[in-house]
Amino acid sequence: MNAAADTAIHYYGNYSPVGDIIVIGTCIVFFVLMKFAYNIKNKNYRVLQVMISSLLVAAVSNVTCHILLNIRDSVPAFLIYFSRVLMHIGYFLNLFLFVIYVKEPLQLEKKTRKIITSMAGTAFLVLMGFDICGTVFRFGFYMDENKQIHEAWSYLFACGYIFYVGLIAFLLLYYRGRMVRQILYAILGTLGVSLVIMGVQGSHGQSSFTTACFMLPVIALLYMIHSNPYNIEIGAVNLSAFEDMITYAHNKKQKRILMCLLMPEFEGTGKRYPREIQETIRQFTQVYFNEAVLFQVSNGRMILVIDVAKNPHYEESMHLILDQFMVEHQRFQLDYKIVFLQTSPALSEKHDYLRMLQYMESSMEINSFRMAEEKDYEDFAKRNYVLSQLEDIKKVGDLNDPRVSVYCQPVLNIATGKYDTAEALMRLSLPGMGMVFPDIFIPLAEEHNLIHALSEIILFKTCVRIKKLLGQGFNVQRISVNFTVSELKDPKFCDDIKSIINDVGIPNDKIAIEITESQNDREFRIVKDRINELRKDGIKFYLDDFGTGYSNFERIMELPFDIIKFDRSLVIACGTDEKSEKMVEHLASMFSAMNYSVLYEGVETEQDEEKCIHMCAKYLQGYKYSKPIPIDDLIKWFEKVAS
Ligand code: C2E
Ligand code: CA
Ligand code: CA
Repeated sequence: MNAAADTAIHYYGNYSPVGDIIVIGTCIVFFVLMKFAYNIKNKNYRVLQVMISSLLVAAVSNVTCHILLNIRDSVPAFLIYFSRVLMHIGYFLNLFLFVIYVKEPLQLEKKTRKIITSMAGTAFLVLMGFDICGTVFRFGFYMDENKQIHEAWSYLFACGYIFYVGLIAFLLLYYRGRMVRQILYAILGTLGVSLVIMGVQGSHGQSSFTTACFMLPVIALLYMIHSNPYNIEIGAVNLSAFEDMITYAHNKKQKRILMCLLMPEFEGTGKRYPREIQETIRQFTQVYFNEAVLFQVSNGRMILVIDVAKNPHYEESMHLILDQFMVEHQRFQLDYKIVFLQTSPALSEKHDYLRMLQYMESSMEINSFRMAEEKDYEDFAKRNYVLSQLEDIKKVGDLNDPRVSVYCQPVLNIATGKYDTAEALMRLSLPGMGMVFPDIFIPLAEEHNLIHALSEIILFKTCVRIKKLLGQGFNVQRISVNFTVSELKDPKFCDDIKSIINDVGIPNDKIAIEITESQNDREFRIVKDRINELRKDGIKFYLDDFGTGYSNFERIMELPFDIIKFDRSLVIACGTDEKSEKMVEHLASMFSAMNYSVLYEGVETEQDEEKCIHMCAKYLQGYKYSKPIPIDDLIKWFEKVAS
């Protein structure tokens, strides 16, 4: 080794390429892992890939630079300068991108984001500008005519490093509340470790591990944020990975086919699949498709996602897999529902896919499969729209909301032969959709806890109309309003009802509440308490849909209902066989004997009417008299109080 080479080595401290070679190897391993593992590909995934690439460039340039320095007598100087600048670009680009990366999870405000980006960008330009100008104008790193190395301002590198690490640490700590704590600690911890190693190697005149120090925090990002471990038993990835895949496919406009398997036996449990099933599921992913990804979104639900571009003949494979599944089903005898979906603009939110799945499954027989068709997507989109309107109705909280309208079905009072009561029934009039019927929105409203907001509006509008009718001298005994048992569970229920009636200013006994039988003991006790409390104030109670559930007489007798509404199915049954007629007759006379009034629902024909009158009917309701009409038209049915 000649004297000049000695100086070079001296200038660069004790450099050995081990650190950089390990970094090169690690970067390659990362790229391999990132290709085969399922990583969360959010916005920052690209940034992370460039960060790893920049480290690879830095490590290769660093090794190259030192090799060239050792043989600098025989190589052109610009090659050395070039590799050195490239190495610095690699380092500082990595740090610049680190700042860009952390901006995202910290959700910085627009203005702060701008300031931070321009600070990090300016630092990058200044550092690189100094580096290049120092060589070109010979005030920094350069080689003279004798190939002697000169280097001034070498501490600028350390300053740049500390500036970026400081900026990142400041951001993380200042906005610490905005990040998952584990991730925050992991990044800060690895930054700290890097800083310590950098300090230790500096104090020993070493420079072999510089690139490795840049690597450590990148490992933390990859591991903590992007790696999503497979379920090693069946090779599936989890729900957040599934949602991430959906977002990715949507953004890239890539078509995916989703094969969804629900096994109800495992849903909502922590039960492990038997080993043979694990094996079968693994096979399904590997044998039939090219690069299919299996997601396990809940314990009993798996979704196999197929990229159409990579599987042009996916339809054939889908049939093969179904055939194979049927064979396996013979063996395992586990219940299932299979749904085929595809990525669709109708499903705009990542959560929509699971909702769509549940929607499809809800109308399927067990052990069957269904392929989603255009109409299914349209129905689902409609349902989603209704749901968003319901949410808005609750949010707005306007008792006069024009989207909720009251229809009424007049009820015939047998004793007087007049119409003096009615049932209030809900309809929605939604912009762009017209009238929506209860079969669509009531289950949705119940499922999403929005029903009470609707009921309050119906009650309010009904009270307002009753007040008007009473004011005009009409004989209104009462109007009944439907409520669900889930509403009664709310401790505020009684106060809500009473305050609406009082605020409008009508007597309490002009309102009746219809509820169906409760399902369990706890509900039963609450319902009983609520009925007792409101009945004290004069509000009447109807038992709705009697005869549709598993009627428990003991319990019904314990509840002080005023009217029992016999469901239309009982009226129909009477028309078909004598046994049923006898049974209904007995039930009705038993209720009458115990001072309950009997109301028959769904009276459509003269025969229905006749039979019901013979079976202790006090009230009759049905299409024979009137379909539900807008509450404003009720005036045509009621009569004025005789003066
Ligand atoms: P329900 O309380 O049993 O209401 C009676 C339903 O039977 C009404 O359907 C009514 O239009 C229909 N109906 C009346 N007479 C006849 C007839 O002669 N033949 C036949 N085939 N049907 C008849 P609608 O209005 O579609 O309501 C359906 C269900 O939606 C109601 O059943 C009730 O469970 C629910 N619902 C309606 N409005 C409300 C509400 O304001 N709150 C709550 N919680 N549920 C409501
Ligand atoms: Ca009802
Ligand atoms: Ca009913």
